[in-house]
Amino acid sequence: MKKTNILAMGAMLALSCAAYAQDHAEHPHWGYQGKGDPAHWAELDAANTACKLSKEQSPIDIEERNAKKAPLAPLAFNYAAGPAEMINNGHTVQINLPPGSVLKAGDDSANLLQFHFHTPSEEKINGVNYPMVAHFVHKSADGKLSVVAVLFKEGAENKTLAPVFDALPAEGKPVQLASFNPVDVLPANHAYFKFMGSLTTPPCSDGVRWQVLRTPVELSKKQLAEFHKLYKMNARPVQPLNGRVVEVSE
Ligand SMILES: [Zn+2]
Repeated sequence: MKKTNILAMGAMLALSCAAYAQDHAEHPHWGYQGKGDPAHWAELDAANTACKLSKEQSPIDIEERNAKKAPLAPLAFNYAAGPAEMINNGHTVQINLPPGSVLKAGDDSANLLQFHFHTPSEEKINGVNYPMVAHFVHKSADGKLSVVAVLFKEGAENKTLAPVFDALPAEGKPVQLASFNPVDVLPANHAYFKFMGSLTTPPCSDGVRWQVLRTPVELSKKQLAEFHKLYKMNARPVQPLNGRVVEVSE
């Protein structure tokens, strides 16, 4: 290759890198630390104003003594086994599930799309975080989101999630699971807290129905350590209740 061509190529590279750097300086990527941390999410993108202005944000600290006992509809997890795909999206590890798993509560019905993890748990119970939480994200036919949170405490190895924690994917390298039944992740007891909230990541859209299961499930110290190799902390701080009522199933 001629020297002039190499120089031209070098100049082009330098230009595109400068453009990239400038773009990132103006729009730092959202995250949990540094310039893109949760306190700055609303400033990163005009689409994120709810992160700052909405009065119904998640996560929250659930004070059990303030929760209102209510005859909440039992949660029916009509989940099905099927092939699943694990992805690392740069913010968490997410397990995408095929259609066919449905959450029912009374007359409401929503399809399970995916579940993903946060460490520590974003939700607090009586002011305390658990080491991890899984969020099961469902969408109804009319587009409403409904999330079920499953808390994790440290204990025995979680056998259901062994195929997940043994093969956590790197960014851009999805891992396929031949067959996975999300119902096996849930605790036997489905008693739950219910409140209205939001997505806990940008754009922080509100109008999300939250159901936090009271009974935690276990995972081992080693499994938690595997996740911490990828993400040490990916939890948004708790948000003000602003008068919202947390209901608890009787
Ligand atoms: Zn989440």
